Amino acid sequence: MANRRIAEILRSGQPDESLQVQGWVRTKRESKGFAFIEVNDGSSLANLQVVINQDLPDYEAILKKLNTGAAVEATGVLVASLGKGQRIELKAETVKVYGEADPDTYPLQKKRHSFEFLRTIGHLRSRTNSFGAVFRVRNACSTAIHQFFHERGFLWVHTPIITASDCEGAGELFSVTSLDLKNIPRTENQAVDYSQDFFAKPTYLTVSGQLEAEVMAMAFSNVYTFGPTFRAENSNTSRHLAEFWMVEPEMAFCDLEGDMDLAEAFLKHIFKYVLETCPEDMEFFNERIDKSVLATAENIINNQFERLTYTEAIKLLEKADVKFEYPVSWGLDLQSEHERYLAEQQFKKPVIVTDYPAQIKAFYMRLNDDEKTVRAMDILAPKIGEIVGGSQREERLEVLERRVLAQGLNPEDLWWYLDLRRYGTVPHAGFGLGFERLVQFITGMGNIRDVIPFPRTPQSAEF
Ligand code: ATP
Ligand code: MG
Ligand code: MG
Ligand code: MG
Repeated sequence: MANRRIAEILRSGQPDESLQVQGWVRTKRESKGFAFIEVNDGSSLANLQVVINQDLPDYEAILKKLNTGAAVEATGVLVASLGKGQRIELKAETVKVYGEADPDTYPLQKKRHSFEFLRTIGHLRSRTNSFGAVFRVRNACSTAIHQFFHERGFLWVHTPIITASDCEGAGELFSVTSLDLKNIPRTENQAVDYSQDFFAKPTYLTVSGQLEAEVMAMAFSNVYTFGPTFRAENSNTSRHLAEFWMVEPEMAFCDLEGDMDLAEAFLKHIFKYVLETCPEDMEFFNERIDKSVLATAENIINNQFERLTYTEAIKLLEKADVKFEYPVSWGLDLQSEHERYLAEQQFKKPVIVTDYPAQIKAFYMRLNDDEKTVRAMDILAPKIGEIVGGSQREERLEVLERRVLAQGLNPEDLWWYLDLRRYGTVPHAGFGLGFERLVQFITGMGNIRDVIPFPRTPQSAEF
């Protein structure tokens, strides 16, 4: 018999259709002579109500096993539902219980649990309404991302997880080594002897695929990478993970304006796609998580983002009648409280800040004629702050070499990157979007740990 997903049955199932469903019991209600069980298979928030009549062989024994959390398979016929809340229900003809869940120990009994508690049972939390909705929306976001780029002819390129370029994110790098850490080989002067290492040199988990994406853009024009990145963030915040996913497009023959236009169109596309494909989940977030989720989505789709320079942003922050914890002054990086103020209070929509001081940004960003600022752009979102960091890249070999040295890096380590400027260089640009911050932004979820199935944060990597 045809096995059907519950979301689809609830949407288009008709009375008298025979079918089979498989899922997990959410609740059981017993009445005289029959019982109702609500079954969920992860396809949507909604459960299918299965009616089990006492005529069913082994009725009592089966019912005893059908507790919250049990895995069940039922076949039967759809009938119009007389009860409130659902159009259709399944009249069971056979019920098979695969795995039981002991009601005395199963932690997800029907009641509201805090997100903090659910983090302690990360292996079970996907079975709740909130996490079901989060991970369906997360999935929709990644589909929308690939769709957006493929519609525009971008090549999806796979950049390496293990890299030897440590020029970005110094201090936040996770080392990768094949050496036996208990018995590290040393050279005569006591340095680690990397000649015995698999790669014969220090290597790390990638903090960004950008430099390698630039390599590919110099052959394919428009490319993007979308994969995991790693940073040993030493602080516990609601927007930093040690392992997170990043989307990084890179475009040849593109300047900062083109980069901002693409990033804005990209975010609008994802919000639209999620509203269209996950309407019930979005309603759920709006009702249960954050009352402004739907209004925010409409705002993103229908309004232009604000654009201003870093210098203008500093002036606004200096005038703001709020007491910030961190200082505001030209030359200092914006902190999340400043970023949030601009997006939440000043403009009440996403803000793109451009032309940051060169000294607080990476060596590869295009130097402006003032020699003080670079063609960088950050997109700041309400409630989160920075969700995108991007820039036009320095395409001039001499300037790039100068910047590499000024930031204390070794040009020899970057010989291949400099070659891209030596042979067939063009103005190019790109950005990095933190995928989990995007999911936070769309769903209104307050903590980044709750938008990734297996969060990695300091002192925590159990699930
Ligand atoms: P922040 O200022 O929040 O630490 P960043 O400036 O260090 O971010 P970038 O190097 O610009 O981050 O990385 C590009 C994007 O990746 C950021 O805009 C953000 O969306 C995301 N991101 C950076 N670090 C993390 C992290 N630890 N966890 C989740 N997302 C992150
Ligand atoms: Mg950072
Ligand atoms: Mg930043
Ligand atoms: Mg940044």
